[in-house]
Amino acid sequence: MPTPLPSPSFIAASAPAAALAGLDPADLTRDDFVEVFSGNKVAVRSQPLSAVYSGHQFGVWAGQLGDGRAIVLGDLDGPEGRMEVQLKGAGLTPYSRMGDGRAVLRSSIREFLCSEAMAALGIPTTRALMLTGSPQRVMRENVETAAVVTRMAPTFIRFGSFEHWHYRNKPDELKTLADHVIRNWYPEFLDAANPYKELLAEVTRRTAHTIAGWQAVGFMHGVMNTDNMSILGLTLDYGPFGFMEAFDAKHICNHTDQGGRYSYANQVPVGHWNCYALGNALLPLIGTPEEAEEALDVYRPAFGARLDELLHAKLGLLDARPGDEALFDGMFTLLQANHADFTLFFRRLGDLQVDGDVASDAPLRDLFLDRAAFDAWAVQYRERLRQEGSADAARRAAMHRVNPKYVLRNYLAQNAIEQAQHGDYAEVHKLLAILERPFDEQPEHDAYAALPPDWAAHLEVSCSS
Ligand code: AMP
Ligand code: MG
Repeated sequence: MPTPLPSPSFIAASAPAAALAGLDPADLTRDDFVEVFSGNKVAVRSQPLSAVYSGHQFGVWAGQLGDGRAIVLGDLDGPEGRMEVQLKGAGLTPYSRMGDGRAVLRSSIREFLCSEAMAALGIPTTRALMLTGSPQRVMRENVETAAVVTRMAPTFIRFGSFEHWHYRNKPDELKTLADHVIRNWYPEFLDAANPYKELLAEVTRRTAHTIAGWQAVGFMHGVMNTDNMSILGLTLDYGPFGFMEAFDAKHICNHTDQGGRYSYANQVPVGHWNCYALGNALLPLIGTPEEAEEALDVYRPAFGARLDELLHAKLGLLDARPGDEALFDGMFTLLQANHADFTLFFRRLGDLQVDGDVASDAPLRDLFLDRAAFDAWAVQYRERLRQEGSADAARRAAMHRVNPKYVLRNYLAQNAIEQAQHGDYAEVHKLLAILERPFDEQPEHDAYAALPPDWAAHLEVSCSS
């Protein structure tokens, strides 16, 4: 059962998420909704539960973990199917271990905003329905206040849910779980010769697909432990995540991740490693290691094909041609050498004119210290655009539909957090509205697309939440 919080108060709700749950967003501000969605009252037909799972953390088997501060309330029927509603931070559960079962306002704002920002970017993710605060004090490095994020997903089952039963040597429970997942979310495999192999292959494909989406917008998850990997391939458990600013493929967004296991570049092989851990857990059901390997072999081609597709779209290229890979490689070398801002680069690239010159290139060119290197790459890019007879206006429109102007930069989240900690939620609301339309110009919000200020370079985010 959720543990009530003193004086829960409404902070924010997401209208698109409410629609997915078949709810009217206007209702969410009502006291009775706030009480239910913060865990202070349990609705009549709700049967709260927390789930057990285990997992590999930073590559090491961590044993039993489980929903230490997450409680599922039940399902809501929405227009696109059933959504499970889960409270994060609603108090102690049987799996809380040393924790207090709470979430602080700071990280709850980050999870709330980023879930909805990712959805608007078109990246598979769990959703955030609403955010509730309370004056309840919570101890972390400092004293903070508690909050609850009301999350939604068709299911929150993780790779670690399967690892749990495998490592406990409980084959019957493992099979029950796998059958439950297939019946509810992968019914197309019910009649397959080997449904468990198909399940592994499809989860592997979805994971590769989602991670390609991350790479394409510069999203870094920060804690890609197997207990944070969704069996539906959704981005799950927002903690010390970040969006790439000054490009560095080795960038580590999580201050706690000293070895850089989950750096931007490492997300790709780690995604594969995590699928491997899932395959290992499913092996007794799949049969032979060869069959599991075959399913896991889906990862590299699925990732490669999806990233290739996304990069073509990001550069406004309509078809794939020999030499494109070299053009992409050259671009990443350039971004790396100059630490150019990832989001601004792609957004401004959309404004390039095929017959433009140094003057018209200025906003883009100014992102690079080594202007000559940029000019050299731009010559190749223009040549490639001419090859397919690319038209400036059409390409610009298409590129601006895939290269966001607005992402949840750490400093933007930080500003909203600091104001919220003083009781003012206006910035949370404003950021949510901006990030729900990341591809739209919204000229009145230009400042939110700007380079981070100097103080942001010293922001540290860690697993403390
Ligand atoms: P995370 O790194 O956020 O994915 O969390 C790893 C594990 O620690 C999960 O099992 C969480 O439920 C648990 N956990 C994190 N914070 C708390 C907390 N404050 N109270 C109880 N369990 C927690
Ligand atoms: Mg987690």
